[in-house]
Formats: sequence, structure tokens, C-alpha cells
Amino acid sequence: MTDEIDLNWELIVIGGGPAGMTAAMYGARYGLKTMLLESRVLGGAQATSPGIENYPGFNFIVGMDLANKMKEQLKKCGAEYKEITEVKSIKILEDSGDFALETRRGEYIAKAIVIATGGGHRKLGVPGEDEFTGRGVSFCATCDGPLFRGKTLAVIGGGNTAVTEALYLSELAGKVYVIHRRDALRAEKAVQDMLFRTDAEIVWDHIVKEFHGEQLISDILIENVKSGETRTLEIDGVFVALGSDPESKLVKPLEVKMNKRGEIFADGEQKTNVPGLFAAGDVVDGMKQIVVAAGQGAVAADSAYKYIRKEKTGPR
Ligand code: NAP
Repeated sequence: MTDEIDLNWELIVIGGGPAGMTAAMYGARYGLKTMLLESRVLGGAQATSPGIENYPGFNFIVGMDLANKMKEQLKKCGAEYKEITEVKSIKILEDSGDFALETRRGEYIAKAIVIATGGGHRKLGVPGEDEFTGRGVSFCATCDGPLFRGKTLAVIGGGNTAVTEALYLSELAGKVYVIHRRDALRAEKAVQDMLFRTDAEIVWDHIVKEFHGEQLISDILIENVKSGETRTLEIDGVFVALGSDPESKLVKPLEVKMNKRGEIFADGEQKTNVPGLFAAGDVVDGMKQIVVAAGQGAVAADSAYKYIRKEKTGPR
């Protein structure tokens, strides 16, 4: 049973991160009847970043603050949005080619869609990880870091997220280990250099095999991938920062072309192989950066406008 039917949306944007919010802003400013649907709350992965230093216009901004600025701007532009509204399925209507989106609030119909669902946290998949999630294991340093003031922490991963989180945590924790499976970090040189200037200890060439504890996590078993040697590291908390897997399941039944990791292929106009379906942000095969996501969101909305209005160019 549905409690509400919304028909005749021109553009529906799925996902409220930087790509989705920008697509909705552009859609609304172009005069398209635009709705953004977000399964949680607006913000996206950027909202969990302790600090962003590469979004133009800001030397440094806390992720949540940037997300809030985008949200304010979205409201000003007149796009409608609904949070806590997960799209459960999408089908293409045979007669019109429009899209029907099933949600708990009812069925939404759109002439075009921008999918901007981003990615979900990648897990290690080792014993104890699920058991201790919320009991010492976290996927968000900004959210949970302050609970570990003065404590001993491990950050797992070597990308921008891991290093940025380690930088943030090293300011409040007693001790921070960064556990990385190789002997070189993946993160940008600029943040690597900052990490090397902190007291954080990088445990190179190690993987985590197990999480242990009683009520709360107390230690992890790590293995040197070169020697095979294992040892126990006593910690109070672990931040898992292994990147993300694209949230593209929703559009799989539409036979959208994707790479083997499930990232959607979109062309220079953010078009997918399905007419009327555009994709932007971290769910797309390509560079994962907030500025790129925002840019792709703008292009996707522009392409959706041309598709819906059957015009060669969008408003300039
Ligand atoms: P990422 O760049 O994919 O890095 C993931 C890290 O986790 C890598 O170091 C990887 O090791 C490691 N890893 C993955 N799976 C693992 C496993 N099973 N066991 C052990 N280690 C594992 O992810 P990210 O750091 O979250 O960044 C994702 C994207 O967002 C990147 O493009 C990044 O630049 C971007 N980002 C941007 C900003 C910003 O714009 N301010 C901030 C944060 C992130 P390997 O290196 O060996 O593969």
C-alpha cells in the first residue's frame, strides 16, 4: 500500500551528496520540476570528513559544514527533497519511457533520473569486525573520534580518507597507528606529508586478521604480509577507512553498463547507456573527489534538461 502518489516530476535525483545536491540545484534553477530523494539525510560521504582542503574556495572546511552549505543552497534554489526516503526499485514505463520509482512514501514518476548514490563503506570482512562495530570499531572518525580522547587508536587503510582521519585523530588520541597493507600510501602527497609530521606510527605492510575483545574491542591481530609474522596490537578503537563500494544495485535491473566493481559508465555528458538515466559522483567510474562529484552533478542536470525539453543546449 502506498500513502502518497507524486506524479509528473520532470527530474528525480537519487542521492543527496555533493553530486546529487548539485544536480538538484541545477535542475531547479533550469526550471525543471525537480525532486531529490535521499535514503538517509542530505550530506553524503563528505559530511563525515574531518577536514577538506581541496574544494575550491575553502582552504579548510569541516565536511559537515560544507554539506550544510550545499543543503542551504539547495533549499534556496527551490528543488524539493525528501530525506529518509529510499528508492527501492525503478522501472521504465513502456508507453512513455518515463521512470517509476518505488519508495515507502509512494511511487514517484520522472521523465529523467540522475543517480548519485555514491558508495558504501568497504569492510575488511574479518572475524570480529561486525561484532565490534559500534563497540570500538567505527567507519567515521568525525562522528566517533571524540569518544576516544587520549586513547590508543588504529586507522586501517592508506588512502585520503585513512590519512585525513589519522591526522584528525592524532590531535585528540593518545596514540594513533596507521595500518597499511603496502609500503607506500595511496593518499595525496600533501596529506601524506602532514601525516609524517605527526606522532602517528605507520605500520607498513600489515593487514588486520582479527578483532578481539569482551564488551568492547581490546586488541587486533595483525600480520606482516611480507614475513607472514603475526602480532597483537592493543588498542581502544579502530577506524576502518578502506574506501567505498559503489551503491549501484538499484539500477542493475535496468541493464546499466558498469565496470566489474559496479561503477556506472557515464560519458562526458554523464549519460549512461539507458536513455533518460544520468549518473554523477562516486557511483560513476572515475575520479572520486567532491569537486568532481559537484561538476558531474551540474553536467548531469544539464543533460537531463536537454533530454526532457528536447533542446540542444541548456540555459546559459
Ligand atoms: P581509497 O583511495 O580507495 O583507499 C583505500 C585504502 O584502503 C587504500 O590504501 C587501500 O590499499 C586500502 N584497502 C582497501 N581494501 C583493503 C583491504 N581489504 N585490506 C587492507 N587495506 C585495504 O579510498 P579513500 O581513501 O576512502 O578515498 C576514496 C576516494 O575519495 C579517493 O579517490 C580519494 O581521493 C577521495 N577522497 C577525497 C577527499 C577529498 O576530496 N577531500 C577526501 C577523502 C577521500 P591500497 O592502497 O593497497 O590499495
